[in-house]
Amino acid sequence: MVSERGVQITAPSKEVFAGGAYITDETMQAVLERQCHRCAGCNAPLVAGSTHFDFREPVICGGALTPGNFEALCPFCHQNRMRRIRERFAGRRK
Ligand SMILES: [Zn+2]
Repeated sequence: MVSERGVQITAPSKEVFAGGAYITDETMQAVLERQCHRCAGCNAPLVAGSTHFDFREPVICGGALTPGNFEALCPFCHQNRMRRIRERFAGRRK
């Protein structure tokens, strides 16, 4: 299930992967405030409805499921992030 903010909201499980981030409203606000409501990748202002949250360090790569490991990204940077992580993940499997 995906909310209007583009954040995937499901019950926690071990199937966590970058992009399928479990994050609460409280955490989202904390992350946005930490970043002054700007994209962590390109510094563009983040607006409701097109803000993507993701792990700074993917859980699959050893990242922690803590608010400090989340960051907010614009759709463009999130797409780039996902591609990099997929490549990184694919590389680890070889
Ligand atoms: Zn960006």
